[in-house]
Amino acid sequence: MKLAQHLKLTGLMLMSITLLAACSTDNDQEQSANVEESITTNSTQDSLVVTNFSANSPRKEVAYLTQEQAKKRSNRVSDVTYQLGFELTGEKDFKGQTTINFDLSDADSPLTVDLNKATIDSLLVNGEKIEANYNQWFITLPKDTLLTGRNTVTIDYTRLHSTNGEGLHRFVDSVDGRVYLFSHFEPAAANQMFALFDQPDLKATYELTVIAPADWTVITATAETSITKTGKSNIWKFPTSKELSPYNFSMHAGPYQVWSDNTGKYPMRVFIRQSISEKIEPEYWFKYTAEGLEFFDEYFGIPYPFAKYDQIIVPDFIYGAMENAAAVTFAERSFTNSAEMTATQKQRLASVIMHEMAHQWFGDLVTMKWWNGLWLNESFASFMGTLATAEATEFDYAWRSFYASNKQSAYRQDQTVTTHPIEVPVPTSANAFDNIDAITYSKGASTLMQLRHLLGPDVFRKGVQNYLTKYSYKNAELDDFIGSLAQAADRSLDEWKDQWLYHAGVNSISADFQCTDGKITSFVLKQTASKDYPTLREQKVQIGLFGFGDEVSGASKFKLTQAIPVIYRGEETKVEQVIGLSCPDLVYSNYQDWGFVKVNLDPISFETAKQHLSDVDDPFLRSMLWQSLWDSANDGDLQLSDYLDVALANIGKEKDYTTLGQSMGGITSAMNYLKLLGDKASNYLQQVQPRLESIYWENAINNEQGSDFQRRWFLAFVGKAETSTGLSKLKNLLDGEINIQGISINQDDRWSIIYQLNRYDFADGLAFIEKERLSDKGDSGEKRAIAAKAVRPDAENKNYWLNEIQNPDSTLAYPKQRSVMGSLYTSEQSELIEATADDILENLAALDQSKDRVFMRTYAGSLIPATCTEASVKRLAEYIKQNDQLSNGVKRSLLLAHQNDERCVMIGGKFSSK
Ligand SMILES: [Zn+2]
Repeated sequence: MKLAQHLKLTGLMLMSITLLAACSTDNDQEQSANVEESITTNSTQDSLVVTNFSANSPRKEVAYLTQEQAKKRSNRVSDVTYQLGFELTGEKDFKGQTTINFDLSDADSPLTVDLNKATIDSLLVNGEKIEANYNQWFITLPKDTLLTGRNTVTIDYTRLHSTNGEGLHRFVDSVDGRVYLFSHFEPAAANQMFALFDQPDLKATYELTVIAPADWTVITATAETSITKTGKSNIWKFPTSKELSPYNFSMHAGPYQVWSDNTGKYPMRVFIRQSISEKIEPEYWFKYTAEGLEFFDEYFGIPYPFAKYDQIIVPDFIYGAMENAAAVTFAERSFTNSAEMTATQKQRLASVIMHEMAHQWFGDLVTMKWWNGLWLNESFASFMGTLATAEATEFDYAWRSFYASNKQSAYRQDQTVTTHPIEVPVPTSANAFDNIDAITYSKGASTLMQLRHLLGPDVFRKGVQNYLTKYSYKNAELDDFIGSLAQAADRSLDEWKDQWLYHAGVNSISADFQCTDGKITSFVLKQTASKDYPTLREQKVQIGLFGFGDEVSGASKFKLTQAIPVIYRGEETKVEQVIGLSCPDLVYSNYQDWGFVKVNLDPISFETAKQHLSDVDDPFLRSMLWQSLWDSANDGDLQLSDYLDVALANIGKEKDYTTLGQSMGGITSAMNYLKLLGDKASNYLQQVQPRLESIYWENAINNEQGSDFQRRWFLAFVGKAETSTGLSKLKNLLDGEINIQGISINQDDRWSIIYQLNRYDFADGLAFIEKERLSDKGDSGEKRAIAAKAVRPDAENKNYWLNEIQNPDSTLAYPKQRSVMGSLYTSEQSELIEATADDILENLAALDQSKDRVFMRTYAGSLIPATCTEASVKRLAEYIKQNDQLSNGVKRSLLLAHQNDERCVMIGGKFSSK
């Protein structure tokens, strides 16, 4: 699965991992400094309610399944097949029939079958009709109805479609009234659609029959064998699927628009709602999909297992994308555009397609036994997805993007108070997503990348191939994977596994070297760890030595003079290979980013980086130096004003598209800190803001017309215009009174401009919203309009929207509430945050009790008040101390908000504008 972006926070993160805000455009440079991106999963409400064991029930009467219960069940049950029937009308409910065939090792005790909130019409166990012992979560089959050996259970039921993005979700298109269904099961929501053993280690085959309205298409893991007309409906029959874990099976149905492409190795289709069918460019979907299938077939040495490749773009999707076998789902909000895709959007599309495709082998073909293995699933898909994007598509710089975005999120999170080891126990299915975050996805992926360097790419691949072959259509655990790699490498990986997977924290390295007469005389790599997480690790990195060329022209260009691979361990590692080489002007100890480690530049290298940033030719090194500068500012070692001096002097010279986005993200973060500092920084802010606007505007005008660069500058200007001069330009662009040659203002741009005008209450912002809704009546227009209203800097307005999301009777659906939460408070709105801070904290515990985890993740991640003052830090510290009863997810958000607030105060304490 791919968790999508928290777009409010992800200016520089192409592929960040959180999903909280709503709109999807390039104009997501907004980076709020007081909120770290985080996945803050709340244990569901159900998990807090523990009722008694009933006498006849072998498990607690709760919605979730514990690992222990799952294990007991899979020890008894095997060889499972499902025959599934559905009658779909487009109305709010649906009828289903599930027939389960399975072997049972003993009939000595009852057995449970999961089925969530259905009305059971009949239950047949081994041919005998019985009264269902059913508690709305699972059916308990009495032992005297069960047989040792083969059993058959048939359940007829009726159920409401879900509206929470899990189970069989129903969406009504507000433009044309058409109804669309899609399923989402991960981690354990198949039981919201049919009756089953809902746990990953009970793989099964699925045979599906569906009655659906005549203009609908039904999509599942296999291609249909027949469609038969009956009255106003069609009967769809599908062949038996291969063996899959329940969460990898899926069914989607509705009058979807479809495109097909049979020119590649496997038939491919793309589906989307009819009313927004112009918002995708199917040729790119097919291009990247075909490239990926070819790449993975070859890399894994096992042909794609599922015969056809469908991709369905669905509304209201709560994550980014999901790897359902042969029927992958994608979130509309992240993968539709109102104009031709930019380079960023194409790259994002390619890399998410690759991520989900990697799962078809690693995840769907070979699956974890239990949810503690989810991280490996996601880490591997993130790693392989990036590798495939780099090697099979036009985005050969995919690893640089990974460094600038995903890896930075992982470094940040690994330095927070809430970090955790990559592998952690997961006691119940309700905790499956508790630790799904930048550690799971991006640190895990970086760790696999490091392991590939350590073992060598051929050995690594051999290990992966052996693993996938040995466990095809089965379940496996971490030790099976590591064991396959260790065997291929012919070395033990026990210590490696312990250092990397069972201990949290990021190490730092620095180069300590001396020169005499222009030659290196000593060179030591020093490794350090934080005191809370003292583990030192073994890593293979590349040390890059750089010097100025002595060109006759006098142009000072950096040149790589040496790249030296080194395996280091412990506190100090002497690097003998460099003794006697020319004294470098700059040393970078993780050249080309092999390692997962923070690089501390030595003072000489840091000075060189500051002075000569745009003289560096190598875009990857330049990206790392930009990052080092920002890290220094964010750690309080470099004044924000010094950082902005260097950044603004160099940003216009940045000729690499990805690095440009990354450096714009750093600038945005610095500006957000300044806004949070209030009076202390207001004079400086007044000087630097017009300078920034004019650099962005000039570059938007002067870059090559119609280029991706021009668009990046233009969108950055839209997101950063705040002075009356800048905002007037935006208004005039919207009105058509001025235009920029090469930029056509599309629907997404119009909303971005309107958002910015409302954020600073400029001109008649509200009237622009109302007018725009007349021409953009669809679901995405509604969400963008809501965001633009919520961001308005007005106390009454904030109270209104806050009530809309806190109120249990609010009619605003969650996807719209998410738009509100993502834009309710921005960094210049400290006073407004203060005005509702007590209200938000007072209501937090009650909401935590009454709302589901998806809602609370967004709520706590966006709205915990932190305004960069001593008082605000203290308020959070006291609140945390006094509220120990909160769910883990909310606690984690509080701890992060507190830590970030402290950081902001620390940076503020060091601020001076000279
Ligand atoms: Zn994934």
